[in-house]
Amino acid sequence: MPAISAVRSTQTRSLSSTPTLRQGSRGAAVSQLQQKLKAKGFNVTVDGDFGPKTTAAVRAFQQSRGLGVDGVVGPNTWAKLNAANPAPPSSGGATPTLRLGARGAAVNNLQNRLRAHGYNVSVDGDFGPRTADAVRSFQRAKGLGVDGVVGPATWAKLNGGAVNNPPPATGGARVNGYVNGQARSITVSSVGNGKFMRTDAANAFNRMKADAARAGINLSVVSGFRTMAEQQYLYNLYLQGRGNLAARPGYSNHQGGTSADLSVPGGYGSSTYRWLQNNAGRYGFVNDVRGEPWHWTFK
Ligand SMILES: [Zn+2]
Repeated sequence: MPAISAVRSTQTRSLSSTPTLRQGSRGAAVSQLQQKLKAKGFNVTVDGDFGPKTTAAVRAFQQSRGLGVDGVVGPNTWAKLNAANPAPPSSGGATPTLRLGARGAAVNNLQNRLRAHGYNVSVDGDFGPRTADAVRSFQRAKGLGVDGVVGPATWAKLNGGAVNNPPPATGGARVNGYVNGQARSITVSSVGNGKFMRTDAANAFNRMKADAARAGINLSVVSGFRTMAEQQYLYNLYLQGRGNLAARPGYSNHQGGTSADLSVPGGYGSSTYRWLQNNAGRYGFVNDVRGEPWHWTFK
């Protein structure tokens, strides 16, 4: 029905008109604005009503695009809304501002941090909708503005106040662990990356890590020993459908200091996984949770 298509496309064009909008504006142009914000990864409801949440999203968008931040959608903001997503930053250090569509090493870093906080994302360097969802959940959980954009405030929360407790400064620290639901004092040592494992497991892991490095494989611990509070936090995320499978608090091998979640970009098919599969047994590590190529336990 070409005639109807033509009419529709005319209507779409007229809806796309770009009047100046601000909080309190209503109607089709606001819906259009909200759709565009959503398409750029900002968290708004498309309801044609320019409320505080839309204002917050507009402000975050303006900030992300280097515009004046006033929450008012004028010609400059419309122009950026109608432009293609910018190319991902090629530099900017480990913590550049990231949003839906970004790619590269900094996104890997982001995804590793999200996983360390218990969010279920793949570490693939591609900031897709699932990563955006995880970022929004994280922002909500931390009381940040929920816009799905990883700026300085979100990076600070991702890198600080981490799930893992402030680690003991040196090896051999005694901590309260849990094994099969029973509280138990265990001794933990560093496995790098600010993470810890039970000392015998840590020693074995560090030998394995050194040998892997000689084979060109980087073994990096995303989550090691967990306190009860950390396990409870991850378990809650799991129950809410926002995190990986997590054992009942008290019953995770992470709480006994014998399990580590490693960064295994690419999962089962990756060179990291294949190396582990071929070698980890020699150091006493087994991959003992089906569907989790990252979870290795010292037996
Ligand atoms: Zn695990």
